Amino acid sequence: MSAATDPSQPIPHYIDGQWAASRATEFLDLVNPATAEGLARVPLAGAAEVGAAVTAAAAAFPEWRRTPPEDRIQPLFKLKQLLEEELEVLSRTITQENGKTVAEARAEMRRAIENVEVACGIPSMMQGYNLEDVARGIDEIMIRQPLGVVAVVTPSNFPGMIPFWFLPYAIATGNTLVLKPSERVPLTMQKAFALLHRTGLPRGVVNLVNGGRAAVEALIDHPQVRAVSFVGSTAAARAVYARAAAHGKRAQCQGGAKNHVVILPDAEMEMAARIVNDSAFGCAGQRCLAVSVAVTVGSAQREFREAIADAAKALKVGNGLDEGVHMGPVLTAQSKSRIESLVGVGVKDGARAILDGRGTRIAGYEKGSFLNPTILDGLPPESALTDTEIFGPVLSLTHARDLDEAIGFLERSAHGNQASLFTSSGAAARRFRYEAKAGNIGINIGVAAPMAYFPFSGWKDSFFGVVHAQGRDAIEFYTEKKVVVERWAAEHSRKF
Ligand code: NAD
Repeated sequence: MSAATDPSQPIPHYIDGQWAASRATEFLDLVNPATAEGLARVPLAGAAEVGAAVTAAAAAFPEWRRTPPEDRIQPLFKLKQLLEEELEVLSRTITQENGKTVAEARAEMRRAIENVEVACGIPSMMQGYNLEDVARGIDEIMIRQPLGVVAVVTPSNFPGMIPFWFLPYAIATGNTLVLKPSERVPLTMQKAFALLHRTGLPRGVVNLVNGGRAAVEALIDHPQVRAVSFVGSTAAARAVYARAAAHGKRAQCQGGAKNHVVILPDAEMEMAARIVNDSAFGCAGQRCLAVSVAVTVGSAQREFREAIADAAKALKVGNGLDEGVHMGPVLTAQSKSRIESLVGVGVKDGARAILDGRGTRIAGYEKGSFLNPTILDGLPPESALTDTEIFGPVLSLTHARDLDEAIGFLERSAHGNQASLFTSSGAAARRFRYEAKAGNIGINIGVAAPMAYFPFSGWKDSFFGVVHAQGRDAIEFYTEKKVVVERWAAEHSRKF
């Protein structure tokens, strides 16, 4: 069986090196968010199907773990080549199921490939360290060993990239894996697993199960799953972290965001507006690094407000597959209603909608889940919206007397995924970098997404765990350190 695309047929799982029809009794029917055309029927797997995938991964582990790292990365080189060849197909699939523009989807896939490239360095990155003569004639060695079966659970906003924050590192370090992609965007991974199938990976090393919360809980509870990498909303991340901890399992759980950008009066205003516009409204505001609150300081207020409104007005909203479109639909009709009602909360609380995207209809795509960019000016700090993740194309503008007050706004946020500053002052930039409580800091940058060889994670309620995703942190997460202390009596060597 290959990756199915007939929307009346449930998509398969991929278990033990082959596509497997689901035995699920519950399904989710997906539509393309731009056209509302049927896209896929997603089985919502239960514990039995999850168990089959974990069993396959556990069976593959002993042999995979013994495979030399140099040999383990050969399928990743092949995967990189296949992802490059199929980049366009994968990108268009992302657009069809998520809605983002195909240019945004291509950029997403480039990030996925970058992670595969970095994981190809495992033979160097996975090395431990040692010291001779920690005491006379005694040596000490630290080695890294894989954990066993690891679970990866991913969200709806980056169907192609986020699974690759984890998968290449997990398997290159010698683990075997079960991935559960978001049940709202499962098709990109159907295509990616069809490519993984062609890489020569032994069966059972990578497995794919489709499902929702029940599948995640079954994965966490399964005694053979050693670790969980999770990305999603804060509520789900917190629940997954607590459940994994209750089993004594290691977990890294990335949660939601409410990202602030501070604009100082000495910022290059046209550049700031252009970059913040892309950050707030790119991917229809459904990036975990999307700026959603712009705090202007002093005289920046009027100039920035005008510049961002002009930039946002110029964005063309439509089907992400069409030429010249800058912003696609939001993920679902439910997302659209939720975002519209949150904008209503902001307006009721006293904000002025200087751009109001509610009720957007796009000619030719009347059933699509579109919203034009929305800008809420003067959202009162006491509004519930101030720290609610809207996860849509909505930017709130708020004002601070000085940098102290602006940093205070960030301080009060429960989230800490990203904080950005626009300025031409090195001293202000240093202070911001030093004090802002967020995992990703942008200085004159709107989306401070770390490259694959840097760690990725938020702070506060945007992350539960210690070790971040990607790069060296991924090696740390997917390996267990073992220390060997050795003594060999010298006289024995004289026998030879
Ligand atoms: P979501 O929380 O609804 O779902 C994410 C994943 O968790 C899915 O696979 C889903 O099946 C599963 N899930 C949902 N509820 C669960 C529960 N109670 N227990 C166990 N599993 C559960 O998130 P989403 O809507 O798919 O994605 C958007 C969210 O993800 C936003 O909040 C966004 O900020 C966040 N996100 C964060 C990062 C980051 O790096 N911090 C990156 C991307 C997205």
